[in-house]
Amino acid sequence: MISVEKGPVPRLLMRKGAVWQQQWSAMVAHYGDQDQVPRHLLQPLKHYRAQDLVAALFAESRGKCVYCECMPDREAYDVEHFLPKPEYPEAVFRWSNLMAVCRPCNAAKADFDTGRLPLIDPTRQDPTPYFSFDGPDMLVAPQAPDYYLAERTLEVLDLNRPALLDARARALAAHDGSLPGPEHAFSACLRHAAGGSGG
Ligand SMILES: [Zn+2]
Repeated sequence: MISVEKGPVPRLLMRKGAVWQQQWSAMVAHYGDQDQVPRHLLQPLKHYRAQDLVAALFAESRGKCVYCECMPDREAYDVEHFLPKPEYPEAVFRWSNLMAVCRPCNAAKADFDTGRLPLIDPTRQDPTPYFSFDGPDMLVAPQAPDYYLAERTLEVLDLNRPALLDARARALAAHDGSLPGPEHAFSACLRHAAGGSGG
């Protein structure tokens, strides 16, 4: 998990965000909740995936998934809403709520309600002191500032899923079993871990 410093709101979002948000909020209000909105009316929701916004998010994260540190290919990248869309329709176009992630991390987190039960938010707190590694296994660090927060984050995001363990093991093998710090070496090796098929 990496620490991310949010950049300025991209121009596109400055220009259009309020209108997109208004359209989406009106839609949700009309139909009751996100799941009731007919598929063919979901267009306003898709603007958060605009190329300029995705590019700005991955620039903030230095090309990585903020959660698992893989560097997803175009087909495997995704946009995360830290506060989930269904429960927080008002935060769908809030820049501070958007992060660069890979599909497997986004799928693992799904609609977990971080407003009710927090996870580590890598744009607001440095995740470094919360975690350590034992070989390829990611663990709660013995000195973690909040054990349960760290443990829940590990579990909800499934940060020891097989594709990640394999990629970390390969990174370790390539560095004779010891890494100066997990982030750099793991990130390089995790480039394809988001793809599902590996390789
Ligand atoms: Zn990920």
